[in-house]
Amino acid sequence: MKNTFSKIAVFTYSSEAQIIKSRLEAEGIEVFLFDQFTVDTDPLVSNAIGGIKLKVWAEDEERALKILETISEYSLDDQGLEIDCPICGSSRVEFYKDVRDLKSFFVYISSFFRKKSTVPRRYEYHCNYCKQNFDL
Ligand SMILES: [Zn+2]
Repeated sequence: MKNTFSKIAVFTYSSEAQIIKSRLEAEGIEVFLFDQFTVDTDPLVSNAIGGIKLKVWAEDEERALKILETISEYSLDDQGLEIDCPICGSSRVEFYKDVRDLKSFFVYISSFFRKKSTVPRRYEYHCNYCKQNFDL
């Protein structure tokens, strides 16, 4: 019965959500993105409203989750090759971004109120095997 939704994923930006949406729709699953246009209007509110929610009909939830599991969650370089951790050599590396310290937090807040779209953030990778962060 198609009367309830199941939230199966949350994304910071709509580009990420669109990729997963296309993959699920290719498998015949109807996909609904919630708060996509709000985040597209001002990406800085994404964290405040809980990101873009990807929902499917409850009856499709199990099948959609199995498809999500088949999608590699680890980072690739510009040539499409897996990024290896420089510390342990594992390829279980994820892209990682965060507002780290108090100074970057205030820069983030002030740029939010000045409506600047470029927020200085620290980008690095996180190894899921040795739990270390590194920059390339
Ligand atoms: Zn590692």
